[in-house]
Amino acid sequence: MTVFGKIIRGEIPCNKVLENDDFLAFHDINPKAPVHILIIPKKEVQNFQSADAKLIGEMTLFIHEVAKLMGLDKSGYRLITNNGKDSGQEVMHLHFHMLGGSKLLWPHLADADTDTKNFF
Ligand code: AMP
Repeated sequence: MTVFGKIIRGEIPCNKVLENDDFLAFHDINPKAPVHILIIPKKEVQNFQSADAKLIGEMTLFIHEVAKLMGLDKSGYRLITNNGKDSGQEVMHLHFHMLGGSKLLWPHLADADTDTKNFF
């Protein structure tokens, strides 16, 4: 079981932001922005690629609620989901990172290997 599975079961604590029957939002333990919230489904889904459209649709509405609660719906936010090995996904339970609370930089693209010859 992943660390997020344990959080859902209440086996380890989290700094909760919002919860309903299907989803949970809590503060990231290692924030990369003034506001850094993780949003997860309670259902065990490994990542975005294995999520179905119904789940993502319902999760979208929950994410909107989290943004409103934090006031980020007005100021703006970035939503990221790491999917699989190359993305650096560490926790194999679907999660969206919601980042905001300041003007965000876009530095990680500078780290990427932009040589696309292996793909096309
Ligand atoms: P990712 O690399 O997309 O899989 O991101 C996993 C995120 O989970 C990282 O930003 C971690 O800081 C965060 N994280 C790991 N364990 C915990 C925890 N117990 N409570 C809150 N956030 C966590």
